[in-house]
Amino acid sequence: MGAEVIAVANQKGGVGKTTTSVNLAASFAAAGHRVLLVDADPQGNATMGSGVDKRAVPHSTYDVLMEERSLAETVVAAPAAGYDVLPGNGELTAAEVGLVGEPGGELRLRRALAPARDRYRYRYVIVDCPPALNTLTVNGLCAADSVLAPIQCEYFALEGLAALLDTVDRVRGRLNPELRIAGLLRTMFDRRSRLANQVSAQLVKYFGEWVYMTVVPRNVRLAEAPSHGLPALVYDRTSKGARAYVALASEIAARGARAAAASASASASVPRHG
Ligand code: ADP
Ligand code: MG
Repeated sequence: MGAEVIAVANQKGGVGKTTTSVNLAASFAAAGHRVLLVDADPQGNATMGSGVDKRAVPHSTYDVLMEERSLAETVVAAPAAGYDVLPGNGELTAAEVGLVGEPGGELRLRRALAPARDRYRYRYVIVDCPPALNTLTVNGLCAADSVLAPIQCEYFALEGLAALLDTVDRVRGRLNPELRIAGLLRTMFDRRSRLANQVSAQLVKYFGEWVYMTVVPRNVRLAEAPSHGLPALVYDRTSKGARAYVALASEIAARGARAAAASASASASVPRHG
């Protein structure tokens, strides 16, 4: 079975994309899967948060996007985190500019990740996208099977989501017809906040099953872990934040299994001739 590529995207900054990417990658790895975390954000936070020094890596996602290096030449191991990283850093800003108007520029990451799907035997590839609907995010969406959108349940969250879903639709129409919505993840959730509960209820009302049952609470361990270069699951696996991401990984795996069973039974029920 090939890898499942999940892009973690939302054009708003600070909604929990990187925290989700790192901790979901760690949760899949802890469940025994081979995982690659792709850092597509010039800030390089997912790289640093996985214990890889973004300033010390010889090559980065930039080189892969510009077709200067192969995936194999660029990927580094993050032993403490338990997965591999395609590191990102400030060089990616140049890729963002360099890819605009390049024919096929949106598909560079997809092409580069092709061997990750089969030859390198990754089970999950997580792409941490930057906080913008730019060419880097579009590269992430084109490379992905599905998109996971972290949502902070605040005012204007739904407006931002509409713009993201528009972009997903456009990518689907032009470049990646198979792109699915993996799910909407409520992050940094404060159960005592009335606004958070209202926005959450609206999210469920409008998007139903797209919304993950798992809710990530606001949890200080999730915010502390990156300064130690560790996913929360490694830094403090008993923390509520770490446990939420373990639950999310199980929920995603269960959804995948259900979808696979549904498509298997659909093809089994195709009438046979002769
Ligand atoms: P993004 O990648 O969308 O910009 P981050 O994942 O970097 O967002 O999160 C923004 C900030 O919020 C970071 O400082 C991060 O440590 C913190 N943070 C993220 N999720 C949580 C959470 N569930 N509880 C507490 N702090 C969080
Ligand atoms: Mg980020």
